[in-house]
Amino acid sequence: MDSIKNELVPNEELSDELLSGLNTQFEMAGPDEVLLWGYDTFGAEMVLGTGFGPSGMFLIYRLWELGVEIPIFYLDTHLLFDETYALRDRVEERFNIQITRVSSDLSLDKQAQKHGEKLWQKDPNKCCHLRKVLPLRNYLSDKKAWITGVRRSQSETRKSTQYVEWDPENEVVKLNPLANYTTKQVWNYIHSKNLPYNPLHDEGYPSIGCIPCTDAVEETAGDERAGRWNGSEKTECGIHLSTQQ
Ligand code: SF4
Repeated sequence: MDSIKNELVPNEELSDELLSGLNTQFEMAGPDEVLLWGYDTFGAEMVLGTGFGPSGMFLIYRLWELGVEIPIFYLDTHLLFDETYALRDRVEERFNIQITRVSSDLSLDKQAQKHGEKLWQKDPNKCCHLRKVLPLRNYLSDKKAWITGVRRSQSETRKSTQYVEWDPENEVVKLNPLANYTTKQVWNYIHSKNLPYNPLHDEGYPSIGCIPCTDAVEETAGDERAGRWNGSEKTECGIHLSTQQ
């Protein structure tokens, strides 16, 4: 893949032809190849973003096993479950890493003063924009690529996910090494390696985000992100809009 690597001009939009060639190759490869290609191409200017879901656990472990040392970050909205913060601590200890906390300068109190109490009920898109989208954009402004755990099987809106994409919102390359993995494959891997995971998954939460916008569900009806923004049309916080069509 060296010849392809050398054609890349980081932080400039990739041509459709180049992306198509890369994605065809990665369809036949596996997550490690995507991660290693990313590291060869971007070095430590590539970062991994995680919400501490199963895909994130998988990818953190793969980076650790491969010896790829890059920054790992999470978006702290100040509204995460205690179990999520505890998992962060366990992951840091197990892999001997520090996970970067990325968050808004706008405290929850200031948000309430400026935009009203419980903005997540009144205008969840604005709340996500303030607490996730803007902090992410700011954090990625001096990076060249970010890795995510987005997978095609997670939802209808993610079914077109590619391994390598241009992220126009953040003006970086976006790598989705698990694009073609099913939830079952990810969980089988987690259990086979005895990796840590959020215990809320065993209590009926298929997908875990902020407390006010995450519910346990009895039936997922095939939607791996069931329980997020329950009862509303909203399915994404906005940080993965580039994967949607
Ligand atoms: S998921 Fe809910 S609480 Fe979290 S940032 Fe979005 S709207 Fe706000």
